[in-house]
Amino acid sequence: DPLQESDLKDLAELGMGNGGSVMKVEHVPSGIVMAKKIVLIDAKPTIRKQILRELHIMHACSSPYIVSSFGAFLSEPNICICMEFMDRGSFEANTWDSGDTEQVPGPIPIGIVRQVARCVLGGLVYLYEDMGVLHRDIKPSNILLNSEGQVKLCDFGVSGELENSVAKTFVGTSVYMSPERILGSDYTVKSDVWSLGVTLIELAHGCFPFSDTDEGESPLKSGSVSSATLPSALSKRASSRKSRRISVHTGVGSLSILELMHHIVQEPPPTLITPSVQHSLTTEADEFVGNCLKKDPVARLNPRELLGTSWDG
Ligand code: ATP
Ligand code: MG
Repeated sequence: DPLQESDLKDLAELGMGNGGSVMKVEHVPSGIVMAKKIVLIDAKPTIRKQILRELHIMHACSSPYIVSSFGAFLSEPNICICMEFMDRGSFEANTWDSGDTEQVPGPIPIGIVRQVARCVLGGLVYLYEDMGVLHRDIKPSNILLNSEGQVKLCDFGVSGELENSVAKTFVGTSVYMSPERILGSDYTVKSDVWSLGVTLIELAHGCFPFSDTDEGESPLKSGSVSSATLPSALSKRASSRKSRRISVHTGVGSLSILELMHHIVQEPPPTLITPSVQHSLTTEADEFVGNCLKKDPVARLNPRELLGTSWDG
């Protein structure tokens, strides 16, 4: 039977993103607990139907590294996507559910970061080789954990039309964006790999990696682009929780998205091992992340190549 709104009972709010919110719901007829993502879209009826057709690819996905989908439906003016509920939430920011009820802030042990890397790469290989899609939005909040210890990807880019129609957000303006994407080149599977590299450093350090603390004169300090000059949607984005996190970390009063993008393009890539964070991190781990963060996409390894490299310690 197709999913319908009237069969779903709200249980709790799981989180709010840029494009919508996610609710924990029960599908009453089956008793299955699901995560319902509600996306406000700005599109004509024909486009809405096209989005639903595109979302069908999610339904066809079957991988231990991909959150499974129960289906999607229109609930004007929203599109609702019902997916597997992951009871330990995401790897977002500095909070990580250790298994107790407490959210533990701070760095994640490197052995777990390595497992996350393997699962994400498994998911990327599956999406790319079996389904012919790129993820396009690898970041901690789109990597989910359950109490069986499974790590799975959600929110991958199956629907180009959905991406075009998400109401007034900056889809694609992500702080995890690769240098070539910032410069306007086509998205490739290597762009997903860059975002994975940034994500792994964030998990291992417990904070977002782009920082001015270990450099002399960073362009992040110049303040040449003020948020007042940005388009309103971008400045809205710049004041979101993610941007706040960057400015807190760098100790710069306010850091705009444009300044960060300038930094990503102009400066050397971030590294796992830094002068302030090196204990318990091996050169193997550092090399692995370095292979994700080659600024030249030709030199950067693809997901299958990365799975073939060793990272044992
Ligand atoms: P953005 O909108 O920029 O992509 P986001 O990924 O944080 O940001 P959402 O995709 O709306 O925003 O997700 C919000 C939060 O909901 C996530 O951080 C995660 O904690 C939770 N969440 C999403 N999907 C699930 C799921 N299937 N199971 C459990 N929790 C989920
Ligand atoms: Mg998400």
